[in-house]
Amino acid sequence: MAPTPTHRVFNFSAGPAVLPEPVLQEAQRDLMALPGVGMSILEVSHRSPVFDGVLERAESDLRTLVGLGDDHHVLFLQGGASQQFAMVPMNLLPPDGVADYVVTGAWAQKAAEEAAKFGQVNVCATTEAEAFTRVPRAEEWHPTPGAAYLHLTSNNTIFGTQWPSWPEVGDSPLVVDASSDLLCRPVDANRCGLVYAGAQKNLGPAGLTLVMVRKDLAERGPESIPTMLRYSVAAKHGSRYNTPPVFAIYLFGLVMRWLLDSGGLVEMETRNRRKAALLYDAIDGSEFYRGTADPGSRSLMNVTFRLPTEELDRRFATEADAAGLSGLQGHRAVGGQRASIYNAFPEAGVTALVEFMREFERVNG
Ligand SMILES: *Cc1c(COP(=O)(O)O)cnc(C)c1O
Repeated sequence: MAPTPTHRVFNFSAGPAVLPEPVLQEAQRDLMALPGVGMSILEVSHRSPVFDGVLERAESDLRTLVGLGDDHHVLFLQGGASQQFAMVPMNLLPPDGVADYVVTGAWAQKAAEEAAKFGQVNVCATTEAEAFTRVPRAEEWHPTPGAAYLHLTSNNTIFGTQWPSWPEVGDSPLVVDASSDLLCRPVDANRCGLVYAGAQKNLGPAGLTLVMVRKDLAERGPESIPTMLRYSVAAKHGSRYNTPPVFAIYLFGLVMRWLLDSGGLVEMETRNRRKAALLYDAIDGSEFYRGTADPGSRSLMNVTFRLPTEELDRRFATEADAAGLSGLQGHRAVGGQRASIYNAFPEAGVTALVEFMREFERVNG
């Protein structure tokens, strides 16, 4: 079978999402046999020296990118961010404790509901009354003194809002669901108790969940919880208590190397700000398109907007798709459009969308 040139569309999907082309090319080259190994990464033992090297390199490149110190473990887990909704309280919330949750969208809501199965949850701030169009301001917080931790969602994938920077939360460890914006800019994970992310949005393929957890907190999980769900077990076994998602970790490692080769997280932030500004400027400069997030809370990763009617929203998504702009239809819970423009999304795709928006408005406006 001869390789055929493959046409790639601009993929605005919220996740699984676009990956860097050099990463896909390298994975494709190595799929039959890793250089010097003679086996595909899909075929190697998770206990082999080859995979030892893949895992170590992935972790150390992540640590370099983040500037993560020795106080934190890096764990490669499965079950998605959704499993972290349960693992966080199982490990960190004692039966007589209280956990604070900042509820800024559907994912934060799910995290809080799951935690309530294990202990007392205090919603210490929420913007639900404003349909999650922004993140809370400092004066709207009511954190619990002595809370086991405070949980927040750094980027609200569905509503297109993001914390401009992660807030100071006092003495309780900060736990962050960063599934849709981790590594979109420099990140201060060192001051967090725990940061987690499903990899399939901004870090790699589906099937891998990244956790950075302070070592002392990782030890808090009681022995009574399932072995596979204890951070301390994963830490003690170097993320290999059982078979880890070998291929997903390999690909995550390639993405880390691509980030380093591209200039790291400062450069990513510059690129992401430029891409997001192109789109928000197009939205703000038109009477036809309306941004749905409060300007002070706008996401760099998921740009949400609406057209004047639902009928036009439907037509826009369909015609955009036919024009090679895929995955723009907003989440079923909110409708409208959502352009997910993660690290790997090329600026040329944003420019193409802006041009498409202008033309669509000219014809339908
Ligand atoms: C997608 C998403 C999730 C759910 O991720 P899974 O890995 O599918 O469980 C959780 N939180 C946020 C912020 C997300 O964007």
